[in-house]
Amino acid sequence: MYFTGSKEHNIVMRQRAIQRGLRLNEYGLFKSNEETRDPKLLVACQTEEEVFDKLGLAYVPPELREDKGEFEAAEHHRIPRLVDWHDLRGALHNHSNWSDGQNTLEEIADYMDELGLDYWAITDHSKSSIVANGLDSARLRQQLKAIKEVNKKLADDGRHFRLLTGSEVDILADGTLDFPDDLLAELDVVVVSIHQGFTHSEAETTQRLIRAAQNPYVHIMGHLTGRLLLEREPYKVNQQAVIDACAEAGTWIELNCNPYRFDMDWRLWPYAKSKGVKCVINPDAHRNEHAGFLRLGAGIARKGWLTKADVINTLSRETLLKELAKKRNRQAV
Ligand SMILES: [Zn+2]
Ligand SMILES: [Zn+2]
Repeated sequence: MYFTGSKEHNIVMRQRAIQRGLRLNEYGLFKSNEETRDPKLLVACQTEEEVFDKLGLAYVPPELREDKGEFEAAEHHRIPRLVDWHDLRGALHNHSNWSDGQNTLEEIADYMDELGLDYWAITDHSKSSIVANGLDSARLRQQLKAIKEVNKKLADDGRHFRLLTGSEVDILADGTLDFPDDLLAELDVVVVSIHQGFTHSEAETTQRLIRAAQNPYVHIMGHLTGRLLLEREPYKVNQQAVIDACAEAGTWIELNCNPYRFDMDWRLWPYAKSKGVKCVINPDAHRNEHAGFLRLGAGIARKGWLTKADVINTLSRETLLKELAKKRNRQAV
């Protein structure tokens, strides 16, 4: 518990101990009014639960130990049951060798099925992402046919797993999208992202993202800030305004769990959740091994206080397909 931190959390824990005539340090919880490590004065140190309990708190999972509301929640036994990576049934933003990914559709289907997942969306880049070998409309339509064939073979073999069709569509400079609506309407999943024009002003980029979020055929706002940790700063954007727009449009926000991204940042999820925005934990896989990022993503979602109900890709495929359709019908009303 002591070494898990964070510092901010540990400071409050120590204060709570002192208020109760106790001392908490790396050796345990002691009945003492001064610093000690005398084992005869030990009150609790077998389990973390014991220590929290003696300090008047329900157990706080390590991910929430930030002094960001966990003490009040634990006092009132309102720590939520956080999402677990085993809850994830698939992912909705991934690439294949049709754009800049490494694996064929067949290899992806076999691998993800083997992992025990129910579905895996292929959302290759759109035509404006030239360096990423983005697909134009004709190639995307060919890919839809190819995915249909892979799925037919899976069905013929009596397997439950399916690929979903989709695209990671570039958001253009004015906030319009790289494909027309009638093509987007043919896809199971539409993710939208910015890949160019990182130097626009905050107001321009925010408007660009809001306009994309409002498109009725869009399901998911991809890697919201474009940051690459230790490599590239996020572009300037009013994230709260984009979250508000997504809340209004019913657009989901991605937790891109490539460890260089972790975008949207964990600190913003409680706000998004309060606005009713759903999260999709997406590995943005460019090779099959990237499926392992899902576990990291669940960890980051836990830091954002998210439960299974807050995360779209905990749904079974049947329910997910209904939700994907509902998103579009909602807009048509
Ligand atoms: Zn992207
Ligand atoms: Zn991507």
